[in-house]
Parts: sequence; C-alpha cells; structure tokens
Amino acid sequence: MQLRIAREQTSSERLAVGVNGCRFGNVLVTREDDRRGAGPDGTVATAQGEFYVVVQKGRSFQRANPQAKVLVDSGRFLLIDWAEKQRWVEEPGCFAVVPYADGAIDVGLRSGRRAQPRSDIVGLVNSFTAQDLKLQVQGLSAIHTRESTGQGFLQALDICEPVLAAAGCETSRQTFTMEGSQSFNLVGRRRGTAPDARLLIMSAHLDSVNHEGGAGARAPGADDNASGCVTVMQVATALARLPELRHDVAFILFGGEEQGLFGSKHYVNNLSPEDRGRIAGVVNIDMAASKNTSKPTVLLEGAALSQEVIDQLADAAATYTQLETQVSLKPFASDHVPFICNGIPAVLTIEGADDAYPHEHTARDVPSGLDFELHRQITMMDVAWLVSNALPSPGA
Ligand SMILES: [Zn+2]
Repeated sequence: MQLRIAREQTSSERLAVGVNGCRFGNVLVTREDDRRGAGPDGTVATAQGEFYVVVQKGRSFQRANPQAKVLVDSGRFLLIDWAEKQRWVEEPGCFAVVPYADGAIDVGLRSGRRAQPRSDIVGLVNSFTAQDLKLQVQGLSAIHTRESTGQGFLQALDICEPVLAAAGCETSRQTFTMEGSQSFNLVGRRRGTAPDARLLIMSAHLDSVNHEGGAGARAPGADDNASGCVTVMQVATALARLPELRHDVAFILFGGEEQGLFGSKHYVNNLSPEDRGRIAGVVNIDMAASKNTSKPTVLLEGAALSQEVIDQLADAAATYTQLETQVSLKPFASDHVPFICNGIPAVLTIEGADDAYPHEHTARDVPSGLDFELHRQITMMDVAWLVSNALPSPGA
C-alpha cells in the first residue's frame, strides 16, 4: 500500500466530501490509489512493512518502541511504518495500535457555533484566574506521589474533600479494591430542584504515577492530572454562586486510573439503575495545562453516542473562550471510557496536541512547565457546559 501524506494550512472538510482516509490534525492521509474527490497533494510513502495507526499516547508508544518509523506525529496519534520482525512492545492502557484503514483516526479541528453569551455564565467564566489554578495545582503536586493505594493519595483526598464541601456539595468516599489494596473515589453531589432532575457528571482522576522510577518514586502529576482535578474543584466552587440548580450535579475525583481505570469502572458498575438512566452527560478532564499547539486548543474525545455533548462543549468553547476545538471519536485510556462502554454519553476534554507533552508519567511533570492560561480556558469551557445544562435558562 502507498499512502499520500498532505499537510494543510487550515483544517478542511475534504475528507468528508469524497476522499476516504485518516486525519491527524492538519495532516490528511489517503491511499495513493484513492484519488476520488479533490485528493490532497503531498508526499507519497511506500510501506517497508505495514502501516499502522497509534492511538493515544503516541509518546508512550515511542518510548516503548524507539525503533519505530514514524511518518506522521500529531502528538497523541501516530502513523507508523512497522517493518521490524518483532511485534511492538505493548503498554496496556497507554496506547492502541491498529492497522491503517480509512477512518481509523479522524482528529480534526471542528468549530462550535458562537451563541449569545449568557450573563450569568459570563460571570462564572470570568471568576477563574490562572494564578488560582496554579496555586491549587502546586498544592496537589507537592505531595510526593498520589499513587492510588498509598498515603499520598489519602493526603490528596484530604485536600480536595473540604474544597467540594465548601462549595456546597454533599461529599462521600467510595471505596474499591484494586490489586489487593484499597483506593477511593471522592464524590461531591448537589441536588437539583426539578422533579425530573437529570444527573450531570464532571470528573478527573486524582492518582499519579511514575513509569520511569516505578513504585514509590516521585510522581508530582501536575498536568496528569492535578490540572483536571483543579478544574473540577474550581468549577464546583464557581457553581456555589448559583444557589439553585435544576438538575443534579456530581463532581468525582477517581482513584486507580493509571493502573487501568479501576475507580471509574467501579463507579459505573455500582451506579443505581435510577442514576444510570438519568445521566445527561459526563465530562472528564485529564491533562488540561500543557500547551502543545501554537494556539490554545482542546481535544474533545468521545464516541458517536457522545456527539451531542461534544457539540455542546464546542459551542461553549466558541461562545465563552478563545479555544480551538479538535474532535476525535476514538475514545481511549481515560475515565470517560467505562461510561461510553456502558452506553452513557461521556467526553474527555484534554489539552490539544500537535506535539506530545514529554513529561507525562515522570518526576518532571511539575507545575513550572505548564500553561495556566490554557488551563483557565479549558476550565471556562467546562463550567459553561455544566451551567448550560444544570440550569438551562437563567434564573429558572
Ligand atoms: Zn491522566
């Protein structure tokens, strides 16, 4: 097989209008023999071995397989030509490798619709400061490691639980067992006033890990994922300004994500039938503060069943932030996945990537390299999404 690789100046809908292929951000890949529609110009690659697509996280794959021949590198997603006799080294939960096929990956810029901003949401959106976000990320990252079953994780819970409680949430710790030890999900809930109240969930994983140093090594996890937890806490705090919500809201900080989504699987498996049936949407935040693109960008990652939530988030970004929005419908390796697998519309909001964040899962994932303006923008989008749904009309 030969592939044509074309880099575009701006995003386009060309793939949708007749040319089948894959989109890696602004790079379009099509089969050389498929020149239907206006096939893009570009370079032609002939496989030495076989073409494969690496899904989430490209950098983890490259660390495990430094000999891989990478033809397209869009940060989390890679096009590789694998000609080695040995199969690649797997790292379960870090990445998936699939044979190249039309539509195997389609990550592209998608703009939301700019609507008339709501004044109550503008007030909340403007309540965040990059400095406040940074201070809270520093607090969580100062813990030696937040390994899911260790003392540091309990310390982190003791930091986060009072924040959710002060924001008017009823808090609880859900215990679960993983690898023979205990870990926890922290849940903060607010009840809505509507008789038929639905449930909206905003979540992030609180645990951290160091894949270089192993168990017990320093794992500050500033971007991955103190940043997501701080977004959840700041959104909860901002929402406290609204004394009444129409719908229920749950803020959840999961344990056990890094070892295989243990906390979120436990949460989904133990949902009451009543709650399961009334979840309107889940937004999960994982890595929100490393700027790996020229413009501040967020990736909205879900599946076909989460399209409505993706659209709502993209509209919130267009209306209330300066974010560019990328969209992918290949969910992988974060706490949105167990929801999607159970038919619940969930979306991951994660920093956009043309280049990957190199410090993930190392002792170098510290606050000093992060971009708290990007973090603020993503937090703004998330709060706008939540309020638009939890309180559909102002003052209602
Ligand atoms: Zn993470």
